Amino acid sequence: LEDYQSGIPRWCSGCGDNAVLAAVQRLCRDENLRPEKLAFVSGIGCASRFPHYMRTYGFHGIHGRALPIAEGVKMARPDLHVFVNTGDGDCCSIGAAHWLHAIRYNMNMTVVLHDNHVYGLTKKQVSPTSPKGLRSNTTPHGSYLDAMNPLTVTLGVTNVSFVAQAVDWIPEAVYAVIRAAYHHKGFSFVRIIQRCPEFLPTMWEPWLRDPEKTLLLEHEDGIAYSAGLQRIYKNRQAHDPSDIHRAREIASSIDPVPVGILYRDESVPCYEDVREAGKPRPIEMVKSGLEAELDKFTVWPDADETGRTA
Ligand code: SF4
Ligand code: MG
Repeated sequence: LEDYQSGIPRWCSGCGDNAVLAAVQRLCRDENLRPEKLAFVSGIGCASRFPHYMRTYGFHGIHGRALPIAEGVKMARPDLHVFVNTGDGDCCSIGAAHWLHAIRYNMNMTVVLHDNHVYGLTKKQVSPTSPKGLRSNTTPHGSYLDAMNPLTVTLGVTNVSFVAQAVDWIPEAVYAVIRAAYHHKGFSFVRIIQRCPEFLPTMWEPWLRDPEKTLLLEHEDGIAYSAGLQRIYKNRQAHDPSDIHRAREIASSIDPVPVGILYRDESVPCYEDVREAGKPRPIEMVKSGLEAELDKFTVWPDADETGRTA
């Protein structure tokens, strides 16, 4: 309790979670976001401590359920901007079913996947994004399966509207993609590849040493990378974020690892708007022939226009 109330993160030194927190706090400052207009929702895992370190509304949920909780918050309080902080175990394993449907519902929220490729809070078990061969407490002889790619999965779901990626060791890019995600209306999915110095200390060393192993995606009205960053990262590519097939190809790459906005479609309607527009439909159904059948279900006659019963 002391840890949470102190507001001081207790993540390990060098943990990539700190980079995400710094970027989000900077976003709140730069955009002048009022704390009472924000809600941070998380599940369980190292990253899920996040809401405790924001001075806003927050909900530290249960394992894998950050997304349905966030959807409930958004339905009840559409005036709040909802952020979700979830880990690779939380989102891609126990929460995977919620993840797919949350993409399809496309509710207006910013979802940050803190992907450290391992279960860190419970001291090193293999996760869906762990590299093949990882020795862990659950795979002492090395894991047998290829890693799941959260970007390509997200890009394969109906109604996907925003997918971006950054790596924790380029803070400028972490900030830029989260900012772009915040400004996108819809389910904005940002994967942050984050280092876990405690359990996978050398996994991303080659990428840190060789800037050619990072690919910066550039496009009009996309991220404006600073001159300093462009001097270091010369491997850049023009990318059309409306091209989902190209986005899937790029998303599949790990060497080089793509950084930037992979896909964006602002025309996908948000569930809360569709629902608002569709409110009269059940009443029309009652009046147009199904009345006798529906009368058997007290939910229809008694329901008010929001669908709630008395
Ligand atoms: Fe970060 Fe890994 Fe420590 Fe968890 S165990 S706080 S992910 S470095
Ligand atoms: Mg993890």
